[in-house]
Amino acid sequence: MAKFEVLGRCSPFWFVLLLCFAFMMGPGAQGWSKEGHIMTCRIAQGLLGSEALEAIQNLLPLNVNGDLSALCTWPDQIRHWHKYRWTSPLHFIDTPDDECTFNYQRDCHDPHGVEDMCVAGAVQNFTSQLVHYREGSADRRYNMTEALLFLSHFMGDIHQPMHVGFTSDEGGNTINLRWFRHKSNLHHVWDREIVLTALSDYYEKDMDLLQKDIEGNFTDLQGIWSSDVSSWEHCDDILSCVTKWAVESINIACKWGYKGVDPGTTLADDYFDSSMPIVMKRIAQGGVRLAMILNRVFGDTDEGFAIAT
Ligand SMILES: [Zn+2]
Repeated sequence: MAKFEVLGRCSPFWFVLLLCFAFMMGPGAQGWSKEGHIMTCRIAQGLLGSEALEAIQNLLPLNVNGDLSALCTWPDQIRHWHKYRWTSPLHFIDTPDDECTFNYQRDCHDPHGVEDMCVAGAVQNFTSQLVHYREGSADRRYNMTEALLFLSHFMGDIHQPMHVGFTSDEGGNTINLRWFRHKSNLHHVWDREIVLTALSDYYEKDMDLLQKDIEGNFTDLQGIWSSDVSSWEHCDDILSCVTKWAVESINIACKWGYKGVDPGTTLADDYFDSSMPIVMKRIAQGGVRLAMILNRVFGDTDEGFAIAT
């Protein structure tokens, strides 16, 4: 607990403090916005069994009172710190321009070619670390805490379609455009703009209402995704699962993200109407699948999956 707090706190040196402050307060187009990550984690937490709930309560620092969503954005806040700079490539995947495919061997590496250094590799890695929790001793606990926070965050990122985008435009980051009246870029539209517009147009800026709507779509008997949840959760081995989820993202990025979008364009109602249901579904899938992983790694069940450890 004490050790974790040190990790989360900025150094007292003023220049580092300023830097920390800048990263914590900055816009940080680094994955789902904080809203997307928070909803993913809250949806997941609502689906956890008692063993997984107890495990995350044990692993989280006391000050968040067992609320995983309070720290789901932590990996975005620390990714530029010296100690955690190695985690920066873990938030996304660059795929070949216009191919609209993801191939783990070909695409899951950092800019220097180091294998597994992408969001699909990160989900695998932190899942296999958490498998050791039940056999762990107290002094492994701090690594386990970080593994939990990283896994929870990266399960959000892998479901954000533009996090599995084209290489030359950095997943849409270099495609500058307007979102309604203000300047933005294609990556940021999918990270945050669509969620914020939905919140202000339909949910009185109340994220709880949006989250309830998303959850209702798969928990209500008549919900539009109710019969899909079991296929969302299906996962025999973690490598093929992360591959499937990344393939879903690049397919959506091509079909709905990049399609018809040129630099300098203005995206407005039509684009919002077609993309918002997809964003809601991806947040739902991220939450359901994060819960599936946490229930399996922490749960007292034989229902494991094949993991390279
Ligand atoms: Zn991220």
